[in-house]
Amino acid sequence: MNTYVLVADSPAVSELVASAAKLGRPVVAVVVGPESVAKAVAAPGVDKVLWVSEAAGQAAEAFAPAVADLVAADPGVVFAGRKPAERVLLGAVAARLGAPVVAGATAVAAEGGTTVVTHGTYGGIAVATVAYDGPVVLVGDGGGALAGGGTAAIEAVAATPGPISVVSLAPSTVEAVDLAGAARVVSVGRGLKSADDLPLLAGLAKALGAELGCSRPVAESLEWLPKDHYVGISGQHIAPDFYLMVGISGQIQHMGGCRGAKLIVCINTDKDAPVMHQADYVLQGDLYDLVPAITAAV
Ligand SMILES: Cc1cc2nc3c(=O)[nH]c(=O)nc-3n(C[C@H](O)[C@H](O)[C@H](O)COP(=O)(O)OP(=O)(O)OC[C@H]3O[C@@H](n4cnc5c(N)ncnc54)[C@H](O)[C@@H]3O)c2cc1C
Repeated sequence: MNTYVLVADSPAVSELVASAAKLGRPVVAVVVGPESVAKAVAAPGVDKVLWVSEAAGQAAEAFAPAVADLVAADPGVVFAGRKPAERVLLGAVAARLGAPVVAGATAVAAEGGTTVVTHGTYGGIAVATVAYDGPVVLVGDGGGALAGGGTAAIEAVAATPGPISVVSLAPSTVEAVDLAGAARVVSVGRGLKSADDLPLLAGLAKALGAELGCSRPVAESLEWLPKDHYVGISGQHIAPDFYLMVGISGQIQHMGGCRGAKLIVCINTDKDAPVMHQADYVLQGDLYDLVPAITAAV
């Protein structure tokens, strides 16, 4: 039985490969993307790469049924990242295998033919350990690039794309963000009064060399930042060296996404906000006073 790692156009899958290797079975990376990605993934920790070679220039999603076929030929535990194309691939695989999809696993182990997965539940206030007797699809943070390369065999696989074609490709007007891999993150919450004030936070993030994130309402309901900017159990899981939370109350659903942060500092007017009891350092005060002052000081 193989363990699979699904890779679309980014080879940043070190965390997924490390988790897959823990199961002690052959790790097969199924790559839908350019050959450069297949080569980058053919690294220590991966035993074999199945490279869907026609994928260059095509939407990775068009090969989702083909990827499902490859995995279904010898089903096992499947790992995939959270990027949009990876989600489509894993969805197709889960549907083909009839397998459950589990997000945010914190530990995974093989016990005989059973896969034991630990993950947060009930909004992050509890931890569940669940045994799966059949295949299971695990969604998590990809991590960084794999070290080394050229150690695993690459098998080119011919596959016919589904009826999807790329109509146009243009530079995004939205700045890309890499919260999961960032060493420093500044996030903003509903303490901000207006989207017009976002440059205050962007300026602080820039001064600190940090990525700019937010709480879920800032992205989901206010739509001040793109949805891939929010941190939390249903958003990005981050593990920076330094996390600055500005005008965020620190509800459990947000904190569940930043448990890996080494140092948390918060700015909040309310001494009783939950975040004030969870951060390592607390700045009680108005963000409209503190953010410009800190930016100037930095
Ligand atoms: C199933 C589920 C999943 C969820 N997943 C997520 C998730 O992944 N991520 C997430 O973030 N949320 C998530 N939520 C929502 C979460 O419960 C909270 O509602 C949300 O995190 C609150 O966002 P906030 O802290 O920005 O806003 P608020 O809770 O409104 O907090 C705003 C804070 O700003 C402070 N403040 C106000 N003015 C100022 C000022 N001038 N200066 C400084 N501080 C100020 C206030 O004292 C307050 O503490 C989820 C909820 C559910 C039900």
